[in-house]
Amino acid sequence: MQCVTLKKGVECAFMTRKGCNFNGGRCHSVVDSCQGCSRAASFEEGTFCTVAPNPAVKWARGSCNFATHLERKAVEQTQKINPLKASKRAAASKKK
Ligand code: SF4
Repeated sequence: MQCVTLKKGVECAFMTRKGCNFNGGRCHSVVDSCQGCSRAASFEEGTFCTVAPNPAVKWARGSCNFATHLERKAVEQTQKINPLKASKRAAASKKK
């Protein structure tokens, strides 16, 4: 449902017909770490995150997983190879 309180017009899971259902009944402003994120938007009452009602919580345990201004390090994929299975595979391919 679209917000009608602080972030007017933004789709929000916490908005109900009876009003904002989020803890405290209102969103919290963005934090310093949100500087540069494209999900932060300015509204009449201040700057809020369009996806997270409480940005401080998103940064409490490391980086926000929704942040658009952080460079994600590519996770190096190293596949463990079982040497016994690899030798069997190699032997099977030689038989063909
Ligand atoms: S997505 Fe994360 S970093 Fe971006 S504004 Fe929201 S809480 Fe802040």
